[in-house]
Amino acid sequence: MSDIIQLLPDHVANQIAAGEVVQRPASVVKELLENAIDAGATNIKLLLIDAGKTLVQVIDNGKGMSPRDAKVSFERHATSKIQKAEDLFNLSTKGFRGEALASIAAIAHVELKTKQHNDELGTSIKIEGSNIISQNFISTSEGTSIAVKNLFYNIPARRNFLKSNTVETRHIIDEFQRVCLAHPTISFLMYHNNNEIYHLKSSNLRKRIVNVFGNKMNEKLVPINEQTDIVAIEGFVAKPEFSRRKRGEQFFFVNDRFIKSPYLNHAVVNAFEGLLEQGSHPSYFLYLTVPANTLDINIHPTKTEIKFDNEKALYAMLRATVKHSLGQYNIAPILDFNRDANLDTSYQFHTNPKATKTPEISVDPDFNPFKEQKEISFPYNREKHTQSWESLYTSNTVNEEENQTELFENQQNNQTQKTIQIQRKYILSSIKSGIVLINQTSAHQRILYEEFLENITIKDANSQQLLFPVKISFSSAEIEMIYTIKTELENVGFSFEEFTKNDITIKGIPISITESKITTILEELLNDITLEVPDASFSHFDVMAKSFAKTLSIKKGTQLSEKEQEELVNNLFSCKEPLVSPFGKPTFKTLTLNEIDNLFNQ
Ligand code: ADP
Ligand code: MG
Repeated sequence: MSDIIQLLPDHVANQIAAGEVVQRPASVVKELLENAIDAGATNIKLLLIDAGKTLVQVIDNGKGMSPRDAKVSFERHATSKIQKAEDLFNLSTKGFRGEALASIAAIAHVELKTKQHNDELGTSIKIEGSNIISQNFISTSEGTSIAVKNLFYNIPARRNFLKSNTVETRHIIDEFQRVCLAHPTISFLMYHNNNEIYHLKSSNLRKRIVNVFGNKMNEKLVPINEQTDIVAIEGFVAKPEFSRRKRGEQFFFVNDRFIKSPYLNHAVVNAFEGLLEQGSHPSYFLYLTVPANTLDINIHPTKTEIKFDNEKALYAMLRATVKHSLGQYNIAPILDFNRDANLDTSYQFHTNPKATKTPEISVDPDFNPFKEQKEISFPYNREKHTQSWESLYTSNTVNEEENQTELFENQQNNQTQKTIQIQRKYILSSIKSGIVLINQTSAHQRILYEEFLENITIKDANSQQLLFPVKISFSSAEIEMIYTIKTELENVGFSFEEFTKNDITIKGIPISITESKITTILEELLNDITLEVPDASFSHFDVMAKSFAKTLSIKKGTQLSEKEQEELVNNLFSCKEPLVSPFGKPTFKTLTLNEIDNLFNQ
């Protein structure tokens, strides 16, 4: 038999390596920013077009490359950062694998311009799919500019796999923030589609955090500072009252490198013991410095996970330090954080002032008072779907001649209760064929979800104008994200007066939400949009409707009046798909009389 094994040609090997290094535009951003930092830049500009899909360009004022290095830098395993295996255990640079530029050049159109400080002329190189197209001497400023265009142009499957611009932008902003927070003394600029998103001047750490996350961050920060033989810990944690329901602003840096560490996270969360509301997460920005030879960053290709020699000692130290700082800043434990559910405002369907003006009740043989309630709650017609559900109920015929008020009284005085709430979680109701048990949260999510979707798709924004416009501050990244979905938000009923770099002024909101919920709704939405948009072609509407439904739904533990329970039941069965919540959870279960009989062997 003849030999069949061959070495892969370089460009193929590079493409394969690229699969590991470059998942999305944000990976390119990370690699290029890190290279600029390794080159000693003090000024770094990031330019993006179409969430980096069309262009990611990084311009730095670092040390530049010689003409020979410029060319070699695109070869695989070409690095100036390590020379021998031992160097791996004493790294002070971000990069060391020599893979990034080779990988990027294999799957994009790349233009490099670079000049070293004392050279008269610089070098320009164009490279496409690993092929050098041109190399020239040019006059250019000191430092390096690398433009990466049309990412994945030669791998359509990967390109199609990219998510919407909103999602890809979010990933880029995440990477950008990590790098900026790791290097507060370097100044950074970021432009997206020619709009300035960040302009971060060289500063101290606290200022950098505030510049990245917005002024509201300043009052939240508690400084952390501890030096021991094995580790120096610096940075800030946010006061517990500012903890978030989502993990978001949680940053660990080890030797100026952003890392993820569930283990160290646990240490911090533990230090907050007794101070946090259940299900909320503390924000923190913690900078650990350890001797380079006591950690191994080589275990993960994208290098966000690392291994420490003294993990246990670090844990203990971190926990004690954070606890101590929280104590020093006099943050008393909040003993009874769980609210009494009895004190919660009971659930209100009547959030639609506009619709209440037009309770169009035509005389209807199937009329019952609950349907009347439903018309008030929902601004669109669900009549068609109601019929089938109502037929499930035991006979409830009402004389159509009687007027509404009488109907209500009649109902309240003479009829037995139709629903029972169980453990403030479920609603039990009797139907013709047996009983139905409804999960109040899932059911309400379904109702709200369809309501929002309907509002969105009929493009008839059911908006309520606010008496006084509300100004909400967000970080510039969050504002950029909200701006990308502005049109969709307007479709659901938001109207905006102004977007500035630090805040958004809102003058109208959807009728189904209340003013006090605006911030939560938008924050949750930002989070969900990042996590849940399944692909680039998918509209944000579904994600938005789900997010709103989740945020606004009644939660378990909420007591519902009898009327509210009945409205919930009626509205659920007026839905197009009453069986499941928008998240695929069952909304109700039925037990037929037969099944009940069987339980008793009858
Ligand atoms: P690594 O960073 O792991 O060494 P890269 O592929 O990212 O590998 O870069 C290869 C080499 O190109 C680097 O080692 C460095 O010498 C050079 N290089 C890359 N980017 C820059 C830059 N912005 N300024 C100066 N040199 C650079
Ligand atoms: Mg690199």
